[in-house]
Amino acid sequence: MRKIILLILLVILLSYPVFSIISEEELQKRREEMVNLIKSRGIKDERVLKAMLKVPRHLFVDKSLWNSAYGDFPLPIGFGQTISQPYIVALMTEALRLKENDKVLEIGTGSGYQAAILAEITKNVYTVEIIKDLAEKAKERLRSLGYTYVKIKWDDGYYGWKEYAPYDAIIVTCAPDHTPPPLIQQLKEGGRMVIPVGPPGLYQTLWLIEKIKGKLKFTDLGGVVFVPLQRRK
Ligand code: SAH
Repeated sequence: MRKIILLILLVILLSYPVFSIISEEELQKRREEMVNLIKSRGIKDERVLKAMLKVPRHLFVDKSLWNSAYGDFPLPIGFGQTISQPYIVALMTEALRLKENDKVLEIGTGSGYQAAILAEITKNVYTVEIIKDLAEKAKERLRSLGYTYVKIKWDDGYYGWKEYAPYDAIIVTCAPDHTPPPLIQQLKEGGRMVIPVGPPGLYQTLWLIEKIKGKLKFTDLGGVVFVPLQRRK
């Protein structure tokens, strides 16, 4: 009998992290801590910090991962893909220098989290995802959170989204081994693009590319690790 009780206790103990419900207050507190960390790492743009304080990152991952949703690391979102590390989301968004009403294109919708951060800053957000299931889930999630104005397309983002081009800003959240020429073409004069470029599965360089008087200016923002940009067969 004692053995059975001990066994039951053990099962309850082991399953605690799965079944424990984290309160809204606790999640809000963790979100504040996440933003404080991002700030301490050098992110200054108030609009970016405000957006990250507001968007509930836990709602972009599976419930079983809620406990880790505000840690500064990537999390799995299925199909071998990940939601980016919060600091990298902040760094990339800040580098875009978005103004209200700027038109921004994202390649690699994934969970939709980065799109929601962009949508807190401007209403003109376009995002392309190559995995149909992820595109559909992100669409549903963004709708349910009130980001009804974010436009999502299931397609190979290598070609950008010509219909709404040119863009003030382009953010690529998967890594190609070269900068796709269509994305350069779809960037407005004076526009900013943030893109990780490098060999798949290794470190890539995060580039800020600015189009100034028709010429491209490249700024190295550091080493990053992103999932590869896939091509449609
Ligand atoms: N920005 C996402 C994280 C993206 S992970 C978020 O906030 O959750 C990278 C995403 O890029 C994956 O969902 C992957 O399926 C997608 N992807 C890879 N190659 C792509 C391509 N050619 N076009 C569009 N999306 C692509």
